[in-house]
Amino acid sequence: MPVSFRQLHAAFAAEVAGIDCRSALSEGEVAAIEAGMDHYAVLVFPDQDITDQQQLAFTRHFGELENYASGGHIRKRLDSRLGAGMADFSNLDKDGRIMSAEDRVWFFKLGDRLWHSDSSFRPVPAKYSLLSGRVLPTWGANTEFADMRAAYDALDARTKAEVEDLVCLHSLIYSREAIGFTDLTEQEIADFRPVRQRLVRTHPVTGRKSLFLSSHAGAIEGWTVPEARMFLRDLTEHATQREFVYSHAWRPFDLVIWDNRTTMHRARRFDRNEVRDVRRTTLAGDVITIEQATAAD
Ligand code: MN
Repeated sequence: MPVSFRQLHAAFAAEVAGIDCRSALSEGEVAAIEAGMDHYAVLVFPDQDITDQQQLAFTRHFGELENYASGGHIRKRLDSRLGAGMADFSNLDKDGRIMSAEDRVWFFKLGDRLWHSDSSFRPVPAKYSLLSGRVLPTWGANTEFADMRAAYDALDARTKAEVEDLVCLHSLIYSREAIGFTDLTEQEIADFRPVRQRLVRTHPVTGRKSLFLSSHAGAIEGWTVPEARMFLRDLTEHATQREFVYSHAWRPFDLVIWDNRTTMHRARRFDRNEVRDVRRTTLAGDVITIEQATAAD
């Protein structure tokens, strides 16, 4: 069956037909999905009742899994219910019970409801994230995506010139601080040392520019913190207007892939007394954003 795409939003995102994510893909199928990602940035694969091993195998068609040996404190906790390579974005503890509202891991998870790009706080941020919906709550829990290429394109010329060479500092400390979760350990503070990221990224295949925003961004080099935070907030409000946002309502066994280089996303509220079991695999990025921009100049 040939691969086909049905666009879900005026700017981006598409639903894919003709792919069984449980089976090995042909080179042609991998190329079609990669081309779809370059164009749509978010792809939804419906009815993919996959195991963790099948999700890992599917992910590896598109590159290397993200694997950070250091800073693994939180990663280990996210992984503890699941095997290696699988990140647990459920509200379940390692024994499969709904976690306490006072659990620190829950506080970390709540931060994912702020707009962000996965691993923007890592020296080499993530390429694709692949999220499989296994058990979903009866209300809420959409994932929203914002097209940061369309958001960049819509900036006025003066703002485009202003952001072109800016470098932001990203850290989990900034995004957790934004929800009032400041009770971090010395080890966490050391693990979450801010990293530098370009504010404007250029896609390596399409050459399209996009805003690399994230709630993990808390400073701009050469700017005062208040000025930087206000500008980042303004840019985020601009970039997350409805015209740039696709809101995904999950059906069981949807597999959704997004490109963290060109989109932001956020989780939405749900009843925490209901189970939400969603599992993520993550593809490593291949460039430091500072160097990528230099290479593209
Ligand atoms: Mn995320």
